[in-house]
Amino acid sequence: MPTALIYDERFLEHKTGTGHPERPDRLRAMMRGLEDAGFLDRLTRPAFAPAERSYLQRLHQPEYVQRCFDQCRNNEPFIDTPDSAVCPASAETAQLAAGGVWEATRQVMAGEVDNAFCAVRPPGHHAEARESMGFCLFANVALAADYLTREVGLERVAIIDFDVHHGNGTQHLLEDRSDVFFISLHEDPAVQYPGTGYAHETGTGDGEGYTLNIPLASGSGDDAYQHAFKSQVLPRLQDYRPEFLLISAGFDAAVEDPLGGMNVTTEGFARMSQQLVEVAQDYCGGRLVSVLEGGYDLDALTRGVVAHIHELIEAGH
Ligand SMILES: [Zn+2]
Repeated sequence: MPTALIYDERFLEHKTGTGHPERPDRLRAMMRGLEDAGFLDRLTRPAFAPAERSYLQRLHQPEYVQRCFDQCRNNEPFIDTPDSAVCPASAETAQLAAGGVWEATRQVMAGEVDNAFCAVRPPGHHAEARESMGFCLFANVALAADYLTREVGLERVAIIDFDVHHGNGTQHLLEDRSDVFFISLHEDPAVQYPGTGYAHETGTGDGEGYTLNIPLASGSGDDAYQHAFKSQVLPRLQDYRPEFLLISAGFDAAVEDPLGGMNVTTEGFARMSQQLVEVAQDYCGGRLVSVLEGGYDLDALTRGVVAHIHELIEAGH
């Protein structure tokens, strides 16, 4: 079975203004890279629709969802923070992104495709229940995890977030539950946005022990990430035995990235991707959906995504 690629030119309509790192060119560069690599012929491109309001409201407050649409419609320059710059089309684009991730998740769950990569924007892992943060409007990955557990009935879904920034939104939306295990590797929150993601944040209530934060020192590269994978990420996933793997795939830990302070190479991203594909094969029947988060150096982002998707495609063979 094929790997699915979730992409639509409408994702380019979310315009963030001159100089904003989270820009439409990110997806343009990535799609050119996938074409140059000969991957577009090997990926299936499912049709998808904007997420229903009720789907967004699984984890976001209705007032917040409405406010996103209202503020965009009123041509306001940002939502909650200048980081989250918007244009009139942004809320609808974010709604389409969440819908694309949902469709990928549904198709993988139904066995229509092996796995999927969602080349969506805006990203989602900083979005909170009632607040936009860090370029993110709706929590694409957390919403898919909530769907897989509360709607589909899975008992164990794992989310791995290797974006250079802590996935604060994903954590806060799900941290009181044991049916979603959230693992985030990121740059030391003492020096990197958003300032959360310390190792002592391990979940709350029934979710105690089902959040694993692995902050890494600035300047960490492939060796540090591999050490974290082998000593913590992979053993904890083996213990948890997830039924479905979701990845918050940010490529801003790349050595070239202007926002991140890490030194991960394309080979480093490939290795982590291969290891996660193996976890999905071992425990999840291969079920894996990966969703783009950050990554702001166009060349490094493109190489990272191509290497990542290569591992997803190979998993099906
Ligand atoms: Zn990031």
